[in-house]
Amino acid sequence: MIGVSVLGSTGSVGMNTLDVIARHRGRFRVVALTAHRDVDGLFRQCLEHQPQLAVMVEEASAQRLATLIRESGLKTEVRSGAAALLEAAAAEDGRYVMAAIVGAAGLEATLAAVHAGKRVLLANKEALVMAGRIFMDAVRKSAAELIPIDSEHNAVFQCMPGGYRPGRWPQGVRRIVLTASGGPFRGWPPERLAEVTPAEACAHPNWSMGRKISVDSATMMNKGLEVIEACWLFDTGPERVEVVVHPQSVIHSMVEYADGSVLAQLSNPDMRTPIAHGLAWPERLDAGVESLDMLARGSLDFEPPDLDAFPCLGLAMQAARAGGGAPVVLNAANEVAVAAFLAGRLAFTGIAELVDAMLGRVDAGRADSLEAVLALDRRVRETAEHYLTALA
Ligand code: NAD
Ligand code: MG
Repeated sequence: MIGVSVLGSTGSVGMNTLDVIARHRGRFRVVALTAHRDVDGLFRQCLEHQPQLAVMVEEASAQRLATLIRESGLKTEVRSGAAALLEAAAAEDGRYVMAAIVGAAGLEATLAAVHAGKRVLLANKEALVMAGRIFMDAVRKSAAELIPIDSEHNAVFQCMPGGYRPGRWPQGVRRIVLTASGGPFRGWPPERLAEVTPAEACAHPNWSMGRKISVDSATMMNKGLEVIEACWLFDTGPERVEVVVHPQSVIHSMVEYADGSVLAQLSNPDMRTPIAHGLAWPERLDAGVESLDMLARGSLDFEPPDLDAFPCLGLAMQAARAGGGAPVVLNAANEVAVAAFLAGRLAFTGIAELVDAMLGRVDAGRADSLEAVLALDRRVRETAEHYLTALA
């Protein structure tokens, strides 16, 4: 039995992970589950999976969960706070760790799983965007096995030469092509975008995801974060990572080889496919995903990304080229901007404006230690809050 800890278990990726695990109870056992403050969601998961440890970041939520657990007779230990999150990531019996916390909040726990030598199933792309060099150095120095779960990066991993492990650019590969759905506003005239609502931005045409990544997909910042993520995972610069809009989300990404061959990974857009791949690798498991019906799908289309309508992608490319602390600034500014948009404090088009302003205003520096990354992240958030206050 392989012990699995799921960080961010109440989220979209977390729930899909538990769905795959539940199909293979003879093979996997849940060791630890963590959530921010969804007490009822985490309690239901504890009843179903009976983990050793359940962590809620918020103290008050943890107390409510502990009461429910005690009354139900479960033996799950309940802990709270950031330190407990790190313990869940490094829990001895959890050989595999699904890193599915959203945003910068997941960085330290994801790194803790790397340091503890786990198989790290990486969904939390923001960790790599913020601290790619630190993260990949830690992977090289530890016994950790890093498996990309973001569907594009998992597709690239599947198309790499046999025996490939993330952290290097393989011989014979010419470039990577990341596909993008284009989000719910693909083809819209830029002037209509100022008016879009959070509900419209979160209604993705192909994927059902958490709210932050849904907005990132709508601005195409998600693809920008993914370019940076790909650069770290596959040890390359942004010049060898191309973005192509593919509205059907059937081809999840491609790898082009020196001889002109292009390998692609196709499947229905369902996160259980990359999750099951990461859990089973190098074997394969039933993920509960239906066969791809090519005839029903009909055709596959491709178009270039529209950088005028979606300036976030260009801003991310700019940060990728600048390197150092620039991706930290990009990520923190984007997190503040997306939260402000979802709270009705900022227009959709204001997201790119805020990120652009922070890239120009905050001195990014080198951000070459975890402390420096976290300090820069805090500084950007403060500056971005001032920017928002000045707008109001
Ligand atoms: P989500 O919002 O649905 O879930 C986030 C999880 O993180 C929840 O369990 C929540 O309790 C926890 N969390 C939130 N804030 C926290 C905090 N401050 N401290 C600790 N835990 C906290 O998000 P999601 O859509 O599942 O995405 C998770 C990650 O996976 C993101 O980095 C996202 O970019 C990436 N990802 C998601 C998808 C997808 O299909 N949803 C696909 C590819 C990559
Ligand atoms: Mg993705």
